[in-house]
Amino acid sequence: MTPRQAAAENGLVDSFGRRVTYVRLSVTDRCDLRCRYCMAETMQFLPRSEILTFEEIVALADIFIERGVRRIRLTGGEPLVRRGIDALVAALGVRIGDGLDELTLTTNGTQLARFAEPLRRAGVRRVNVSLDSRDPARFRYITRRGDLDKVLGGIEAAAAAGLAVKINMVALRGLNEDEIEPMLRWCAARGHDLTLIETMPLGEVEEDRSDHYLPLDVIRDRLERRFALTPSLRRTGGPARYYEVGGTGIRLGLITPLTGNFCEGCNRIRVAATGTVYGCLGHDQKVELRDLLRAGGRGAVDEALDRLLAGKPRGHAFDIAAARPAVPRHMSVTGG
Ligand code: SAM
Ligand code: SF4
Repeated sequence: MTPRQAAAENGLVDSFGRRVTYVRLSVTDRCDLRCRYCMAETMQFLPRSEILTFEEIVALADIFIERGVRRIRLTGGEPLVRRGIDALVAALGVRIGDGLDELTLTTNGTQLARFAEPLRRAGVRRVNVSLDSRDPARFRYITRRGDLDKVLGGIEAAAAAGLAVKINMVALRGLNEDEIEPMLRWCAARGHDLTLIETMPLGEVEEDRSDHYLPLDVIRDRLERRFALTPSLRRTGGPARYYEVGGTGIRLGLITPLTGNFCEGCNRIRVAATGTVYGCLGHDQKVELRDLLRAGGRGAVDEALDRLLAGKPRGHAFDIAAARPAVPRHMSVTGG
């Protein structure tokens, strides 16, 4: 049976009839940056034995593909800091065209200069690079340690290797609000799509996220005075609403979990580096697959996935004004 035939019989469909075709797979909880909205300054990272091995990740990917998953996005933490990541990407890349339609990656870009070519060779065609500021001092402040030049060099290397680059920018009141329009122009000049993201209340960090929370409906209204934004027909089943930016050839995405709920068409689940699979970014509903994979029980993995799908929540319930985060885990656990 081909992967497509298997998926037709055996697909991952939840109790609301939503079919899961997209998996975000975190390959590490570690990162070389400490973005203020994402991580605490001091993080306790997991011991290696708790993280899925590459063999386990590939085995899990194969199960997902057989059950109808068509797109896998590698994320983290920072995926490119995991040692030997190019070998994993190459192993998964072999599945492109044979079950998998697309393999992509979300990265902070610090290691991209080194990995752009291997990613391209493995079949990756698109990467998302997070870039919240193009001012070196601000960039260092927001990431608590990042070197902007490294990231800009990584973006250039990715473009030179023939990878389409989409920039992800978390919109932060009082931190990068004044850079949003310049960022859009910079992206337009380079042919990069830009996605703006509202801060989401995930995991305890030192700061009060509501201090920097910036609702994107305000930003969209502001940008509309300068650019012709036409709602795009593009729907990815993901959280972004897209706009064509007139005269530039690029698209602007707005990820608005707080000002516009995006859950009704959700087609995704999220795998943490430990093999815990979450049905929703905004809930703790999960199943643990690592021990099942290690025990070699395919039936048990399928049963756990069925349980996850049966209980996949209708949507998240983020509230930026709430005293506590919606879920205790940090975004670096599930990778966005
Ligand atoms: N390290 C990689 C990176 O930064 O692109 C991949 C993982 S990171 C968790 C994925 C995305 O989530 C990044 O674009 C980051 O800016 C975003 N992110 C992290 N914490 C967030 C939060 N609390 N609210 C909204 N976006 C967040
Ligand atoms: Fe690291 Fe990405 Fe989180 Fe920043 S957003 S701390 S780069 S995982």
